Amino acid sequence: MPLKYKYFEQRPLQRTLTEPVELDKIVSLAKRRGFVFQSSEIYGGLGSTWDFGPLGVEMKRNIKDAWWRAMVRERNDVVGLDAAILMHPDVWEASGHVGGFTDPLVQCEGECKERFRADNIEGDVCPKCGGHLGEARQFNLMFKTFMGPVEDATAQIWLRPETAQGIFVNFDNVATTSRKKIPFGIAQIGKSFRNEITPGNFIFRTREFEQMEMEFFCHPGEVDQWFRYWVDFSMGFFKRYGVRAEFLREREHTEEERPHYASAAADIEYKFSFGWSELETINNRGDHDLVAHQEKSGKDLSYFDQAADERFVPYVVEPAMGADRTMLAMLVDAYDEEEGEKEPRTVLRLHPEIAPMTVAVLPLSRNDKLTPTAQRVFEVVSKEWTTQYDDTQSIGRRYRRQDEAGTPLCVTVDFDTIDDASVTIRNRDSMEQIRVPIENVNAAITDLINAMREDISG
Ligand code: ATP
Repeated sequence: MPLKYKYFEQRPLQRTLTEPVELDKIVSLAKRRGFVFQSSEIYGGLGSTWDFGPLGVEMKRNIKDAWWRAMVRERNDVVGLDAAILMHPDVWEASGHVGGFTDPLVQCEGECKERFRADNIEGDVCPKCGGHLGEARQFNLMFKTFMGPVEDATAQIWLRPETAQGIFVNFDNVATTSRKKIPFGIAQIGKSFRNEITPGNFIFRTREFEQMEMEFFCHPGEVDQWFRYWVDFSMGFFKRYGVRAEFLREREHTEEERPHYASAAADIEYKFSFGWSELETINNRGDHDLVAHQEKSGKDLSYFDQAADERFVPYVVEPAMGADRTMLAMLVDAYDEEEGEKEPRTVLRLHPEIAPMTVAVLPLSRNDKLTPTAQRVFEVVSKEWTTQYDDTQSIGRRYRRQDEAGTPLCVTVDFDTIDDASVTIRNRDSMEQIRVPIENVNAAITDLINAMREDISG
């Protein structure tokens, strides 16, 4: 007989908070629950660099997996790549980063000597101490390092400031070996480094971060329609993974703010407490990159379309998204507080595929009667779901902890379990509970998670 568990009654999902939560609350929850710690904290920390703790690493991995699934695995026209972070220095000459990947920097000549991005400041007065700001100069954001034992100009290389160039220089390798015909894309997830003048807002802007980028190669005549397609796709991705539609918007770049290589660009922005801010940019890069690498390397990077008997350099549409920024937006978006019996209840209403843990197995207490059964339940459940076992403190405290971690379901093993071989499953959002035989626990979790996924996807 096919199993069909009755869903929890309370649908659709109800939220209490309707405005974006202040960042302070997210920072302290992230620390408290082990999502994000300050880097090198015992040495006083290193400015604007962060470490992802046990829950953070799971959540960020879920975000990257979700993107990879949507971008690569579910599609027949995108393949993956994992290029090295260190690349030949000519790559960055050709791409224009050595010459042009700069921000205008101004420094206070008064008391504080603070540095600012000139494009974020109006006038010549220091926003911190009121001193006079000096002339703006262009500051290159790439980190320099040296390859090999000799630290001279010939050994100097860069840490990549974007993953995209690893894709462009492999265009021919991938096109030839994957036998993909245009239009097709190459996706990559990996670390990038930018020596930002003013990092901040927690993990929103850091100097080391992870990007999820895809370069989609198409015929020049089709680039506008693919640009539109990838903007809509990108918006759809955030909604699919539960980010509220009313906190998302699309914003076309003005001509002045567009990067030098782009002929059209749009951002997907999220309404943070510090204002609407970019999560992802979709650029029409034209043939800028392939032509530049063709000229610098002397290698032919054109494409021959046999059907049309035509040779051309493909145009490129690029959706470029930050994994860390997306994680911040998802934490902020999921954060909710509601009235509790004694104190307010904090809950992260994360999409079940994004939540760090899907299930928590909680024996009512730690003893010879319950522990062996609870451990057996953990073994069964953890084969299929990311599961945490917790038998410390009172059950109420443990539910609160899981709510704050965004765990969609708690499976509780209590004294009745010994007699009826059943467990209680509790829903994070409504706190409703249902009773399920242990032998059906994974089937029931599948049904319940599917229902939650449906409720939360826009
Ligand atoms: P910004 O204008 O915020 O500096 P950008 O337009 O330079 O960003 P892109 O080069 O378009 O950013 O990079 C694509 C994505 O990579 C961004 O939308 C963002 O999600 C992420 N990203 C870029 N810089 C950072 C950073 N310093 N910290 C965290 N994520 C970043």
